[in-house]
Amino acid sequence: RMLERDHCKAINDTQGTGTGDQLLREVARRWPDSVGREDTVARLGGDEYVVVAERLGKDESAAAMQAETIAEKVRQALGEPYVLAANGQTYHSTASIGVTLFHDQDVAVDVLFKQADVALYQAKNAGRNTIRFFNPDMQRAIELRSAMEHALRHSLQNDELKLYYQPQVDRSGRLIGAEALLRWFPADAEPVPPVKFIRLAEDTGLILPIGAWVLEQACTQLKRWGTDPATNTLTISVNVSAQQFHQPDFVEQIWDQIKRTRIDPAKLKIELTESVVLDRVEEVAKRMRQLKALGVAFSLDDFGTGFSSLSYLKRLPLDQIKIDQSFVQDISHDPNDAAIVRAILVMSRSLGLEVIAEGVETVEQRDFLHENGCPAYQGYLFGRPMPIEQWNRTWRLNVNE
Ligand code: C2E
Ligand code: MG
Ligand code: MG
Repeated sequence: RMLERDHCKAINDTQGTGTGDQLLREVARRWPDSVGREDTVARLGGDEYVVVAERLGKDESAAAMQAETIAEKVRQALGEPYVLAANGQTYHSTASIGVTLFHDQDVAVDVLFKQADVALYQAKNAGRNTIRFFNPDMQRAIELRSAMEHALRHSLQNDELKLYYQPQVDRSGRLIGAEALLRWFPADAEPVPPVKFIRLAEDTGLILPIGAWVLEQACTQLKRWGTDPATNTLTISVNVSAQQFHQPDFVEQIWDQIKRTRIDPAKLKIELTESVVLDRVEEVAKRMRQLKALGVAFSLDDFGTGFSSLSYLKRLPLDQIKIDQSFVQDISHDPNDAAIVRAILVMSRSLGLEVIAEGVETVEQRDFLHENGCPAYQGYLFGRPMPIEQWNRTWRLNVNE
C-alpha cells in the first residue's frame, strides 16, 4: 500500500564508481533493519530505490502514519555515516523520500511511480533528507501529527497536563469513587481531548512518562482522601495502556507509588481494555496476579466492545467490569442493547464480579440499570470529569448536607 522512492545522493560523481559501488552495497545492508520483512525493496538503478510496503491496513490515515514511520526509519538508517572498507573514510549521505499510498489495484503502476516521483521531487526541494507525501492532505496530516508530537513531548515539563476526576456512585447515588481522566491544555492552542492524543502518546512511547505521571497524581490524591473519614472509602480508577502495563518494571512502579503514599492499595483500580487483555492472555494474567498480590484492584474497561470472550473473564483476576457506554446509550430504545446489558449484569453477578455502567446520561438509563440490579454508575447524569478544585467544591457540599 505504500510506494516510496528514495534517492541516495551519489558519491559516484565525486569519488569515482568504485567507492560509489561500495556505498551502494552498504546501503543494501542497511535496508533489512529499517523495512518490514514483508516489504519489497528494489534498486531501480543509479541511486534510486523503491520500497513497496504492504498490509498497512484499510484506514487511510493510519496507513499514512505507518508509511511515515517506515520512511522515517529508512531515512535515519541511510543517514548514518558510512565507513567504507576500501579507504577507511567516513562518508555522509542522506536520503530524500517520496511516498504515495495505494489500495490493491486502483492505480496503474506507472502512475504510482509518477506520484512517488512528484513527492520525491518535493522532498529534494525541501532540502533533501526529508520525507514528502504525494497527497497534500496526507502531507498536512503528517505535519500536524509531528507538530503535535513535538508539543506533547513538552507537555509534562510545561505543566500542561491535568488529571480530571469523574464521580462514580452506588445504587443510592452515594459517591464511591472516581475515574481519573487525562486532559491536555497546550499553552498556545485549544485543549486536546484524550481521544486525540492517547494514541499518539502510545505510538511514540510518550505514554510511559505520561502514564507514570497519571499514576503518581492519582496515588497522591488517594493519600489525601485517605486521611479524612469522609473520603477514605473512595477509590480511583486509572486507565493503563498496553505498553505501560507490559513495561518490565510496571509492578515495581505501582509498588513504589504505594510505598511512597502509603495508601490502601485496594483503593487503586487499574483499568485495562480488552485489547490489552486479549493479546497474550497468559502473560497478562501472570502480571495481573503479581499486581493483585500488592493489593490493587482491576477493572475491565469498555466491556462488550471487543471480542468479549467469556473464557478470559474466568482466567483473569478481575474485580470489576465496566459496561461500555455504547450499550448504555440506547438501553431504553434498542432491545438488543437492553438484552446485552441485562446479560452482562446477570453474568457478572454469577461470576462474582463487580460491575459499573459508564456513560449514564439520563434518568431513564439509570432506572433501567437500577431495575436490573446494576450496583454502580458513572456518567454525566452524576457528574462530568472535573478538576480536583471543582470536585472538592461539588462534593464537600454534599458531604455537609
Ligand atoms: P474511557 O476510559 O472509556 O473513559 C470514559 C470516557 O467517557 C471519558 O472520555 C469520559 O469523559 C466519557 N464519559 C463519561 N461519562 C460520559 C457520559 O455520560 N456520556 C458521554 N458521552 N461520555 C461520557 P475522555 O475523558 O475523553 O477519555 C477518553 C478515553 O481516553 C478514555 O476512555 C481512555 O481510554 C483514554 N484515557 C483517558 N485518560 C487516560 C489516561 O490517563 N491514560 C490512558 N492510557 N488512557 C486515558
Ligand atoms: Mg476508563
Ligand atoms: Mg470506557
